[in-house]
Amino acid sequence: MPDGMKQENRSPEPAAGENKSKEVFYRKYRFSSFSNMCGQQQVASFFINTIKYNKISHAYLFSGPRGTGKTSMARLFAKILNCSEKTSFEPCGKCRNCVEFDRGSAVDIIEMDAASNRKIDDIRSLRDDVTFMPINGKYKIFILDEAHMLTTEAANAFLKTLEEPPPYVIFILATTEHHKIPATILSRCQLVKFSRIAVADIVKRLEFVIGEENAVRDEGLKIICDRAALFLIAKKANGGMRDALSLLEYVIALGGGINITGESVENILGMHSTGQIKNFIESVYLKKPETGLEIIKKVYETGNELLSFLESVNSYLSSLTLVKIGVSSSSALDCDEDDFAALREAASRFEAKDLMALLEIYSECLSQIRFAPDQRSHLEFVYIKSILSPGSGAANPQAQAAAVPSQAVQPALDYTRIEKMINDKITMAAEKFRQSGGPSKPSQASSGAPAGTSAGGAARPQLKPGESKLTLERIKLIWASSFLGRLKEISLPTHAIISSGALSKYSNGVLEIDFTKNAFCGERMNSGLHLTHAEEAFAQTYEEEVKIRIVLPAQEKAARVEQRKKEMLEEKKNDPTVKLLLEEFDGEIIDVEEQ
Ligand SMILES: [Zn+2]
Repeated sequence: MPDGMKQENRSPEPAAGENKSKEVFYRKYRFSSFSNMCGQQQVASFFINTIKYNKISHAYLFSGPRGTGKTSMARLFAKILNCSEKTSFEPCGKCRNCVEFDRGSAVDIIEMDAASNRKIDDIRSLRDDVTFMPINGKYKIFILDEAHMLTTEAANAFLKTLEEPPPYVIFILATTEHHKIPATILSRCQLVKFSRIAVADIVKRLEFVIGEENAVRDEGLKIICDRAALFLIAKKANGGMRDALSLLEYVIALGGGINITGESVENILGMHSTGQIKNFIESVYLKKPETGLEIIKKVYETGNELLSFLESVNSYLSSLTLVKIGVSSSSALDCDEDDFAALREAASRFEAKDLMALLEIYSECLSQIRFAPDQRSHLEFVYIKSILSPGSGAANPQAQAAAVPSQAVQPALDYTRIEKMINDKITMAAEKFRQSGGPSKPSQASSGAPAGTSAGGAARPQLKPGESKLTLERIKLIWASSFLGRLKEISLPTHAIISSGALSKYSNGVLEIDFTKNAFCGERMNSGLHLTHAEEAFAQTYEEEVKIRIVLPAQEKAARVEQRKKEMLEEKKNDPTVKLLLEEFDGEIIDVEEQ
């Protein structure tokens, strides 16, 4: 080995019984033959054929996510290539080369990490090394991990060697970042793609590992791990076997190995169970805010990240959406059959468009919660908003009856209770604000406030009568882009509620917002401080004061009746017979009634 080239400390494949029990799982249970490989079926068949038909290429690029078996495959392939007694595509395990390989002392297999050997001098050393013949094996095999880390100069220097290596040299480059490998190198390598390992395959392997471990454990110390726990570990590993094995070992170590359940894995790994997420989304559908708020509270109090909770909510919602639009296999969603059946059942309660709406609400929340000063309150507001959003579930009796025929009667939405919760939240937030030393009213000093307003006060722009340039069209112009944003800063609940109304009329300083399609939200707008908040946000955005009037169904009906009467009055006035009568008796029409 030339100077400057550090061979990686390769872990030997331990001989039976030799300190094997002390090894970490991912080394102890990395695959050492095609028969115990997990997942990667295409990769396995590719190499089996390569070896069977002796179609060996001089350079390979292994590309794929971390922990998916690239290095293990490179080692297995190298071991087979230099096995002198192989009769099939598997290594014999007995010849001198195999034995040396297992001990970690195979001199013809050189592993390098490009992350620490990335400079041009390292590549020059490698180029020199290439010129020496293998000592024991047929091939000299260079395994270059993290190949994307090579500097441009080093990659260029490597090109010449890669192009025409001596016939006994084989390069295996591995990378997690395929796109960073220069095209000149890519074109000289045979590409082998490693995919993420399916959750079900990881679970199988974990079960195998537990079986092996239990075989040498005393009674009473055996690992008992339920399937829910294994699925959670496999999901958390995100398609990487190495991570899955490390997580399993970690969970066993922390839980003492006795009775590992889904719940204990959730606690140890800070994960959120499907059951919990399901209950959360179900509470949106059933409009039972206590359940969801209780879950948020629990997640918050147990110290679990609300961010990862939201990620799980989003992932669950996207699974529900996929099931709703017709994805029909559990493997496509990386879950077991029971979970899939549960997803199906849950998805049947929603309309696809409502799921999409919820997914939008919660993915927007996910992108914003990072910046929220109080993540819990932020999530709670968004949660309440999702309950109030039209079509999110049982509030619509028709959708409800169609979606859940078995449940003829859903518990009615308790508006008073929800309102109380929202108001409690407002009071709590205001209290927090006061305690933190800030003014009791939200500050206007942030970027959205127009110049001239003082930080804590309610200095409003003063306009003389007749100076107003506002029209409904002009209001609409920046309603979504500026006003709603400003309002959101002042009050999230008001923002949530006002969003379900529609701008309908503006005249003489009165802005009407139509809530005829959502009377519940309209009534909320008329209560508490919502109108004050909205008018404040209006003044700050449009630099004009306005009175906001909420149009509710009854009012709208009254207005329609009034309008109709006016029209009829006009009609009657112009009716020749009526005209005649009025003239004859010097009369006047007092009222008209529809016939
Ligand atoms: Zn051998």
